[in-house]
Amino acid sequence: MALIVKKFGGSSVGSTEKIMNVAKRVLNEKKPGDQIVMVVSAMGDTTDDLIKLAEGINKEPYTYPREMDMLLTTGEQISIALLAMAFNTLGQKAVSLTGSMAGMHTNSFHTKGLITDITPERVHEELDKGNIVVVAGFQGTDEHGDPVTLGRGGSDTSAVALAGALKADSCEIFTDVDGVYSADPRIVPSAHKMQEITYSEMLEMARLGAGVMQPRSVEMGAYFNIPIHVRSTFTTKPGTMIREDYTMEEKNFDIRGVAHDDKVVKVAVLGIPNTPGIAHDIFSALAEANVDVDMIVQSIRNIEKNVTDMVFTVASSDRAVAKPIVDKVAEKLGAVAVLIEDDVAKVSIVGAGMLGNPGIASRMFGALSKAGINIDVISTSEISISCLIKKDVLKEAVNAIHDEFFQDK
Ligand code: ASP
Ligand code: MG
Repeated sequence: MALIVKKFGGSSVGSTEKIMNVAKRVLNEKKPGDQIVMVVSAMGDTTDDLIKLAEGINKEPYTYPREMDMLLTTGEQISIALLAMAFNTLGQKAVSLTGSMAGMHTNSFHTKGLITDITPERVHEELDKGNIVVVAGFQGTDEHGDPVTLGRGGSDTSAVALAGALKADSCEIFTDVDGVYSADPRIVPSAHKMQEITYSEMLEMARLGAGVMQPRSVEMGAYFNIPIHVRSTFTTKPGTMIREDYTMEEKNFDIRGVAHDDKVVKVAVLGIPNTPGIAHDIFSALAEANVDVDMIVQSIRNIEKNVTDMVFTVASSDRAVAKPIVDKVAEKLGAVAVLIEDDVAKVSIVGAGMLGNPGIASRMFGALSKAGINIDVISTSEISISCLIKKDVLKEAVNAIHDEFFQDK
């Protein structure tokens, strides 16, 4: 007897027909005695549609994050109810639970909540009654009982965290691609599927824009040491295992993959005094508003006047919140100007093997230079290198870099 958590994303439950197919597939694969917990996302583009609906009221609806959560959590409630009905229609007892009913507790960071604790007693009770339990992904409630969502793609995190809390035997993430690829196959046709990848490399890929998994979900997997199987909803082929270490020998690789992110904006605070405390002034104000900052570069603008520029990137979805905060601090610091550029994108290479291998960085820059692509900002971590470039050459850049590292492999 096994306890299995299976997560199905929005495209897998995009219509009532697809929901029926998901239920049939799960029942086909279910072994007698297996306990199954389903975690599902909202149907198809429901979440995007709900956001557009809110934009009809206010162009910047995220300035009302609690109400956004009240709205967005309805999406998953539709799919859990329909999927539970689908199981019952097929003769399998099933019950749907909201995040709150399943014991998903979060902090109060509306629209980007973090899971603080999971008390899944109700889930166990329902499983023990012979039910398949269908849980709403992407949501929990805070200490006031208010709904909180976990950031876009958050159902992955719900699933892995719940698998950890239930001490599940496995966690499967079903999606519209059949695994994790060395680059987004929609952009790089020659990208290859990985059989396995480590938590740390996958976390970096996800953090740098690989949309297949929400970064937090990979962190949860590492925390609970739950292997995550990313696989296709539409075939039964094995997908990609995300786990602590490699178990089989794949071909030698210099890097593991190329990730890209076109949902970033560049912020430049120009002409601020080069004195202690300015970085703290800017970034503590952003941190207080829960805005994540990346690719920070401080450069000397004028040595004689001891004036500096501070450049960094934030997620496009944080632009509206970040702008007034940065404007306010810039004014206080006497900055010359604040510039925000939207036409930028980030391309990154990821791989544990690049540590202590300086040739890797120069190959990445060489590939971009050969393609005539200008690099605006560079940042590095232990297992990744990222370049900020213009958005209109992103596809070319991803292909050029992927070719450099994966041609003939
Ligand atoms: N429905 C949410 C979204 O579109 C959560 C998810 O799909 O994981 O971001
Ligand atoms: Mg997703």
